[in-house]
Amino acid sequence: MEHATAEKDIPFDIEALRRKYREERDKRLRADGENQYLEVAGTFSHFGDDDPYVEPGFTRPALNDAVDVIIIGGGFSGLLAAARLKEAGISDIRILEAGGDFGGTWYWNRYPGAQCDIDSYCYLPLLEELGYIPKEKYSYVNEIFAHSQRIGQHYGLYGITCFQTRVTQLNWDEDQKRWIVRTNRDDEMKARFVVMALGTASRAKLPGIPGIETFKGHSFHTSRWDYNYTGGDTTGGLHKLADKRVAVIGTGATAIQCVPFVGQYAKELFVFQRTPSSVDLRGNKPTDPEWAKNLKPGWQRERRENFADIVTGRPFDRDLVSDGWTDIFRNLQTMAAPKTGVAQNPADVALLAEIADFNKMNQIRARVDETVTDQKTADALKPWYRQFCKRPTFNDQYLPTFNRPNVTLVDTSEAKGVERISETGVVANGRDYPVDCIIFATGFEISTAFRRRIGFDIIGRNGQSLYDYWADGYRTLHGFSSHGFPNWFYIGISQNGLSVNMTAMFDDQARHIAYIIAQVRARGAETVQPSTEAEDEWVATIRKLAVVNREFLEACTPGYYNNEGGKRPGSLAGETYGPGINAFNALLAEWRADGSMKGLELDC
Ligand code: NDP
Repeated sequence: MEHATAEKDIPFDIEALRRKYREERDKRLRADGENQYLEVAGTFSHFGDDDPYVEPGFTRPALNDAVDVIIIGGGFSGLLAAARLKEAGISDIRILEAGGDFGGTWYWNRYPGAQCDIDSYCYLPLLEELGYIPKEKYSYVNEIFAHSQRIGQHYGLYGITCFQTRVTQLNWDEDQKRWIVRTNRDDEMKARFVVMALGTASRAKLPGIPGIETFKGHSFHTSRWDYNYTGGDTTGGLHKLADKRVAVIGTGATAIQCVPFVGQYAKELFVFQRTPSSVDLRGNKPTDPEWAKNLKPGWQRERRENFADIVTGRPFDRDLVSDGWTDIFRNLQTMAAPKTGVAQNPADVALLAEIADFNKMNQIRARVDETVTDQKTADALKPWYRQFCKRPTFNDQYLPTFNRPNVTLVDTSEAKGVERISETGVVANGRDYPVDCIIFATGFEISTAFRRRIGFDIIGRNGQSLYDYWADGYRTLHGFSSHGFPNWFYIGISQNGLSVNMTAMFDDQARHIAYIIAQVRARGAETVQPSTEAEDEWVATIRKLAVVNREFLEACTPGYYNNEGGKRPGSLAGETYGPGINAFNALLAEWRADGSMKGLELDC
């Protein structure tokens, strides 16, 4: 039978590449897997708890009152939950937010160069509702943070939010049919409904490098950038680093953005890399006012759905976003175009996807060679894995930074990471690198165990902990709620449609939750929870449809996408709705249109 594409026409050795990918993956697999990371707690809590953006000493009287809905988190997911609830006619809402303002990720992550790598017209939520058009195709943190404040103002959310407040415990009180919400401000509030909107990257993590606690110089995590130490702001000007030797540990999406700034200002910069990121062209550009003027109502949803169709590999007839994310799928579609008229079987499609991926990654690797002058450094910067094994990155300054005489790349892949941290610096590959400052660009608790990510107890009916209920993996209906945890909703990436454009996903989830809460009230019910049967069915659906995804991720280089190469239920691998976000939203729309609240138990 004629293959959809003839392997002999391909100008590279597929088997050799496969072998190389496997070798590079195996080299990085560590026996301690996810356990290699340290929680930001105890001795290390200052890496995550300190808030550099507020004056110290904030106090307020404790609250012992009751509201209809408590939303935990004031990032985009919490803001969207509040906005959609208000639109659904529910106004007795309170938001509890750990930071001193709205913004979540964009409140905390104000490192130099911080930028969203998703098309801003897709990413920034509620653009049509607020009548706002982003300034550039890819927004920087200041604009995104200001947009979250704009949402807060537009929907009147400042007056209903307790800032600088961290939840410490959630307890369901069956007699009162209310959640008791305790906080670090000694509050004990009652809420009929709780919506958890904690974001996906809200807890920093540290590498468990031996000796990390002994370092006597300065150190911080990128999500708490210390401008007092570096000088400057998110746009640069880090002049206080002029006499400093700096180490950056980690080369993920965050490091790719901040390293060029540190390289520009520091006396010396050592970048400690274990796995290189794929770094594609950014090509940012200002918004075309003519284009913006001609947008028709509904344009943002249309754009988001088009983007999601493309990046989940669904058929598409046009590419509205047209960037590095969509590029690989455009390649795939071009390759898969039926030249022969032969219907393609799944194996052919999988092979075409793999070839398109090799093509893309060959381009990424060629870009390194074209940009970085020192060959050894260039070789170390080349990623050998499939593009979506790790978050792809896009930046035009990162690779050229390694041509600076003050910047050194330290490849730690053979030793599976940095060897040790001493009182005076970083030890890697048996060599000592004395530094004044260590910047940990080592990421977040994104797919680690749920208890560790959330950081507080959630106790439902009969004193049952949600963490125990989920001990063998998530158990939800549509990812939002669980049996035994009445009136409790979760916005996140558990057993629902995942999108790289997180805010679109949060918005659809927020709308769905607002619909359920409004329906519960309209139907005169007191509580709502999924039935055990509906949960069983949904868990089975998720597992059944996620098989392809799991196989793909298990073959990947270690990272948070695949639990550092380990296998554990409840991970990103295998726990999202396989057919993708648009299909998931269609399923939810159908569920709502049915009107029977199928799978939910409503009690008066
Ligand atoms: P990541 O988890 O992506 O990266 C952590 C880095 O630390 C990796 O390079 C990792 O190496 C490295 N590391 C960990 N332990 C060691 C060790 N012992 N020795 C040496 N290196 C080590 O975190 P980021 O903060 O970069 O990104 C997290 C996520 O945040 C992204 O994936 C993305 O989802 C989001 N983000 C989004 C942005 C956007 O534009 N929308 C921008 C920035 C972040 P290894 O790869 O080998 O594990």
